[in-house]
Amino acid sequence: MSKYLDKKLKHLIPYTPGEQPKRDRIIKLNTNESPFPPSNAVISAVKETLSTLNLYSDSTCDAAVTAIADSLGLDKSRVLLTNGSDESLAFIFYGLSPKGAAFPDITYGFYRVLSDLYNIQTRVVPLDPRFRVNIEDYKGLQQTIYIANPNAPTGISLSKNDIVGLLLQNPDRLLVVDEAYVDFGGESVADLVDKFDNLIVVRTFSKSRNLAGARIGFVLADSEVIKDLQKIKYSFNPYSVNSMSLAAAKASIQDQKYFLDCIDTIKKTRALTAKSLTDKGFLVLDSSTNFLMVGQHKRLTAKDYYEKLKQNNILVRYFAQERIKDFVRITIGSKENMEQLLAVTDNILKGQ
Ligand SMILES: *Cc1c(COP(=O)(O)O)cnc(C)c1O
Repeated sequence: MSKYLDKKLKHLIPYTPGEQPKRDRIIKLNTNESPFPPSNAVISAVKETLSTLNLYSDSTCDAAVTAIADSLGLDKSRVLLTNGSDESLAFIFYGLSPKGAAFPDITYGFYRVLSDLYNIQTRVVPLDPRFRVNIEDYKGLQQTIYIANPNAPTGISLSKNDIVGLLLQNPDRLLVVDEAYVDFGGESVADLVDKFDNLIVVRTFSKSRNLAGARIGFVLADSEVIKDLQKIKYSFNPYSVNSMSLAAAKASIQDQKYFLDCIDTIKKTRALTAKSLTDKGFLVLDSSTNFLMVGQHKRLTAKDYYEKLKQNNILVRYFAQERIKDFVRITIGSKENMEQLLAVTDNILKGQ
């Protein structure tokens, strides 16, 4: 730490991203990336932008915003594109949480980091013993509520009915639904932004659209809320989404078949992997995402499992956090990746 750092940042603990190893022999199942490359249509669209990189990107992101709005049957004024959904979340925490932020004890780690960065008071609401959100626990809270649905790292989803329940508890309180994983089996509430002006939906191209490295996220909300967020975006970095990513976003939305095929493969691989791990004696939580929360084995702690997988060049995620420290989070990779994971798991269990 230098002597120049503002004291308000002295104690900030930043988000810890999953490791990004350089070795190619590693099977990477730790950051919920897609095992599939972007589609050919996306790759060609990105290539076409290269000769125009002397120009600034379109700050309105119009082509991509139109493609997203049309695909969801929403008006363009209800969509804002950002540099990954982490940037969407940063803007919402920064500008739309004046009474603080409330979120579950086990959820996306960035919510805590952004609250700390912007000095936002937080209210942490424990999930129930089965890691589910009980909407009654949010009754009476005034803070902006942040719910990842499906949740990470549990993989468990909340019904649309429950989301509506949260919206109706207080029409003057904002509810942010982070739908990073919704395409893998959750119930989206994107259509409800036409009905509820206290709903913000956050989405990303990083997980289900095979574009984590392109950094594309978006917000769906009432057009006045979008205008507020635009004000923040234009005060921070009007060009935060680059031309290559804008082209990738539009092409990806237009290539629905590739998107659906990839998701279908992931879901099938998820079902096979979950069954196999259950048969080996692990508890596997119900997943509506592209990852599995796996643990509570009688003969193997989660930490040991994580470390032994790593020794075998398989990287998964371990969270040393009280309620989930006996689980590892395993991203669903390709069929071959998962077969290898299962084979290595058998070997590990034999040695126990
Ligand atoms: C991965 C993830 C994000 C962030 O995605 P980016 O668009 O890559 O910034 C947001 N929310 C949750 C719950 C995630 O798991």
